[in-house]
Amino acid sequence: MSHILIVHAHPEPQSLTSALKDLAVTTLEARGHEVQVSDLYAMRWKTLADRQDFTDTCDAERLRYIAESRHAYATDTQTMDIAAEQQKLLWADAVLFSFPLWWFGMPAILKGWVDRVFAFGFAYGVGEHGGERWGDRYGEGMLAGRRAMLMVPIGGRAPYYSERGVNGSLEEILWPIHHGTLFYPGLTVMPPFPVYSSDRLDEAGWQQVAADLEQRLAGLFSDAPIAYRRQNGGHYDGEQRLKPGLGEGEGGTRIHLVQPSDPEQRPARV
Ligand SMILES: Cc1cc2nc3c(=O)[nH]c(=O)nc-3n(C[C@H](O)[C@H](O)[C@H](O)COP(=O)(O)OP(=O)(O)OC[C@H]3O[C@@H](n4cnc5c(N)ncnc54)[C@H](O)[C@@H]3O)c2cc1C
Repeated sequence: MSHILIVHAHPEPQSLTSALKDLAVTTLEARGHEVQVSDLYAMRWKTLADRQDFTDTCDAERLRYIAESRHAYATDTQTMDIAAEQQKLLWADAVLFSFPLWWFGMPAILKGWVDRVFAFGFAYGVGEHGGERWGDRYGEGMLAGRRAMLMVPIGGRAPYYSERGVNGSLEEILWPIHHGTLFYPGLTVMPPFPVYSSDRLDEAGWQQVAADLEQRLAGLFSDAPIAYRRQNGGHYDGEQRLKPGLGEGEGGTRIHLVQPSDPEQRPARV
């Protein structure tokens, strides 16, 4: 039995996105897992990152969000909503993010959840910084050992998001979330669960989507994650650049994927 947190961001409980979230809850519970849902619209989650996030400020004259975040996390003076979400993340063995693709990213309410919950000392600013070591991040950190997966309905058709598609590949579009937001604090990132042409989904399409999601959830802890290189796994030099000889034959962000041609051993899964 595992613990699974679903962070859900859709304003309509009868939406397709909400139906996927509901299906995930029933499927995972039927498999014996314990599930918690942070339904951000229902919680009326505070989206704006501002001074109100700190109950004891270290500089009343000028807000330096990072410095206040560091102080609040270290002194246990964060607001209760932020601390509660961090506890849920630490409780979880896997975290599912449920949201529709809006303007090539996540809805603002979910971005606001990340901005506020992923605090200094919790999601960044973790570990030793100095010399050639730039902290515990990209595969290491507070959230290491936990899996993450996006469940993301997308209005556009699948070809638009293919390698040569006009929108750019989905892999590239989700890179800031997958790598910059989830892998950064240590989460092991699973391939996403996209539902393309979501605005035109009919009953037959839903039946297929539901069956596919159940299959993905069955493999949540056994399917292969995206093979990002770990920052401290020997792939990068002291300036955090990929070492010569690695990433050959790839371009863009794909150079940060472990490749079969790499001279060194595939790093252990985190
Ligand atoms: C602000 C904004 C920005 C956007 N940006 C982008 C973008 O950058 N790229 C892009 O490709 N798209 C974009 N879109 C489109 C967006 O991704 C889709 O509207 C979204 O994925 C649809 O998901 P939903 O949960 O809102 O669907 P809903 O509107 O709730 O439902 C979609 C369809 O699914 C049907 N359906 C079938 N089965 C079920 C079921 N069991 N439960 C509920 N509904 C079901 C509904 O009848 C409906 O026809 C954007 C939309 C908005 C509003």
